Amino acid sequence: MNKIKLFSGEQIPMEMHKVKIVQKIQLAPTSKRLEALREAGFNTFLLKNRDVFLDMLTDSGVNAMSDAQQAAMMLADDSYAGSQTFGRLEQKCQEIFGKRHFLPAHQGRACENLLAKVLVRPGSVVITNYHFTTTKAHIVLNGGTVVEAFIPEALQTTSSHPFKGNMDLEKLEAAIAEYGAHRIAFVRMEAGANLIGGQPFSLANLAAVRNICRRHGLVLVLDASLLADNLHFIKEREAECRGMSVREITRGIADLVDVIYFSARKLGCSRGGGICTDRADLFGALRELLPLYEGFLTYGGMSVREMEAIAVGLEETMDEDMISQCPQFTAFMVEELARRGVPVVTPPGGLGCHINAREFLDHVPQEQYPAGALAAALYLISGIRGMERGTMSEARDAEGNEVFADLELLRLAVPRRVYTLSQLTYAVDRITWLYAHRRLVGGLKFVEEPKTLRFFLGRLAPLSDWPERLAEAFERDYAQL
Ligand SMILES: *Cc1c(COP(=O)(O)O)cnc(C)c1O
Repeated sequence: MNKIKLFSGEQIPMEMHKVKIVQKIQLAPTSKRLEALREAGFNTFLLKNRDVFLDMLTDSGVNAMSDAQQAAMMLADDSYAGSQTFGRLEQKCQEIFGKRHFLPAHQGRACENLLAKVLVRPGSVVITNYHFTTTKAHIVLNGGTVVEAFIPEALQTTSSHPFKGNMDLEKLEAAIAEYGAHRIAFVRMEAGANLIGGQPFSLANLAAVRNICRRHGLVLVLDASLLADNLHFIKEREAECRGMSVREITRGIADLVDVIYFSARKLGCSRGGGICTDRADLFGALRELLPLYEGFLTYGGMSVREMEAIAVGLEETMDEDMISQCPQFTAFMVEELARRGVPVVTPPGGLGCHINAREFLDHVPQEQYPAGALAAALYLISGIRGMERGTMSEARDAEGNEVFADLELLRLAVPRRVYTLSQLTYAVDRITWLYAHRRLVGGLKFVEEPKTLRFFLGRLAPLSDWPERLAEAFERDYAQL
């Protein structure tokens, strides 16, 4: 139970937890936000948190911990080698995923670094349902290329397809035929495909992918960072799985893949990460690199307190009430915005609400980063910090040309158990105002552009005085209320 019927017939999402610890936040005035935005080079990654009202940048490392997680942190067994804490985390991973081996790593991209170093060679190909920024960077860094085999609906921002994260089986077969199985480092399925709006795959699709991989002797890797949301959607949208428990669905998924890795900044509401596998050969190769890049085998760059919190967080993820919170709050935002005519990605996915910036700012060309401009504009008029997920998040090609993203999205993450319905209602109101005044928003250009993952540290400038004019219009409208 996580949706409540009101007497009016309306349904609202319901928090199945109560708040025990709070953090005070403040809403800086518009003039201060304009100043903060300038200082941040119009990049929301570079804003100071004290200038942010609702931090919807990401769900990474900012999900609220439970009382049980905090309590477990006090039991942490601090030792370099052979810590009991590691034993508890290893056992929990073995129990939930049913894989014999577990390797700790300090976060999701650290797992990707290890996997790419072991599996990717110059000329290798990785086939995936959709790429992720850090995953692709590590594969490319090791000389490989990423081939995407997404279904057509993946890029349709408005759709009713329940599993837009599914892999296109014909494209997978075609890519195997084109490159030859010997060149394919691994096939990667990302749960809750991040860059297309936290869109899930179905258990049936994963099973079909597994059969193809098995036929060609290919390693199947699951990026389980956003697994919690994907579990919720399988339970809710896949008829064959309705009678299964969350734990059974998790095992159903795990049994189909050779390697599972995850960012525990997301899965398990803590910080850290890990790799699970039954494959002794892969485990052996990965284990050799672990002390070099992460730390000893029993901590992998994590603090023992965080490891205790992950073990409890993974167990809590096996609870329907827990995993439905983020998707249902996301759905609330998406439905309220769609009702007001704002272009949002549908059906609602996990992770957060995704606004289609290409349509929202259809007068801003892609080379002027509409999603980045929208992120800056929304912060300016609301203090809400979102994240650009569009062309800024792509890298230029070898000749220095822009590679336009398939989608230009502004992501407003809904970190798990953090925000309330009134805060989301505020977000809906300010986004609706911005949509009515969208013509006031202009484009951005880079003034400092790093070569890799430029969206993190790049600095930009507006192409006109649009931020000043937008701030004035906002002040004028809201002063009248
Ligand atoms: C966040 C994320 C990662 C990287 O995890 P970090 O802990 O941030 O390094 C990898 N894959 C997906 C799908 C993610 O969402």
